[in-house]
Amino acid sequence: MSQVETVTGPIDSGQLGTTLMHEHVFVLNEEIRRNFPGDWDEQERIDDAAAKLTALARRGCTTIADPTVLGLGRDIARVQQVANRTDLNIIAATGLYTYNDVPHYFRYRGLGQQGTADDPMTQMFISDITTGIAGTEVKAAFLKCAIEAEGLTPGVERVLRCVGYAHLATGAPITVHTHPGSQSGLTALRVLREVGADLTKVVLSHSGDTPDVDHLTELADTGCLLGMDRFGLNLEISFEQRADTVAAMCARGYAGSMVLSHDASCFIDWFGMEQIPLFAPQWHFEHLFDDVLPALAERGVTQKQLDTMLIDNPRRYFGGE
Ligand SMILES: [Zn+2]
Repeated sequence: MSQVETVTGPIDSGQLGTTLMHEHVFVLNEEIRRNFPGDWDEQERIDDAAAKLTALARRGCTTIADPTVLGLGRDIARVQQVANRTDLNIIAATGLYTYNDVPHYFRYRGLGQQGTADDPMTQMFISDITTGIAGTEVKAAFLKCAIEAEGLTPGVERVLRCVGYAHLATGAPITVHTHPGSQSGLTALRVLREVGADLTKVVLSHSGDTPDVDHLTELADTGCLLGMDRFGLNLEISFEQRADTVAAMCARGYAGSMVLSHDASCFIDWFGMEQIPLFAPQWHFEHLFDDVLPALAERGVTQKQLDTMLIDNPRRYFGGE
């Protein structure tokens, strides 16, 4: 049985159990938080996160994969404090989240080697996976990058390639934030294929944001996993459409190609916390158990298919049998 690194140490991949493949503990801009802390209360936020994740564990979830990386305010010491107070396994990631440029920190580093195995960015990702994050013993177990409607900008391409090379060096799987409305997943797969990545180790996150089952089928036929991972964030697509799409893909025989999640956060500074219940009242960690699983069952998705999406596909992604 293979081992998977979590924030509280390695576990057997067989222990991952029911795994939500895209959930965040904290998403925030650390520079803004430090300069304009407002009513930020560190202990209150840690208490709140521990309570929310413990409530999720009580619903039968055993593990979350947290793709919070550079650009989203990753602070592993803060996440460690939360992880130590809940039974839920939290899997940490490395990578960089941008829709456009790389941070200026990287702009003049690695000139002549940018986007290669020798790019200092690649080496940072590898170090997070093999040595540990920020001087802690916590190791990242997967890689994260993004390609949005802006498409393959030079910055986005550099990050995609560095993530691909870090994957080749370590075997760590990859999660790509995609924008299915512009079919950016196809571009991500092309770049990762050029690097030599194993596409069966790639999740195209936010694939569930489109009801276009033909496009999803085209993506899944490359061997990658589709992240049907924004349940509750029903802005451009309704709850019913999200559920219908997963059921339609199951009916086409693609349960083995999908993972389920919310892309929710214990705390995210992109909105006022009071705003979320107004524009997305179902966008929280328990929506899947409250509403999504019953809706999928109503649409003919079997328990075996649910187990495939929630247990088997995540375990294989993280190296299990
Ligand atoms: Zn996310």
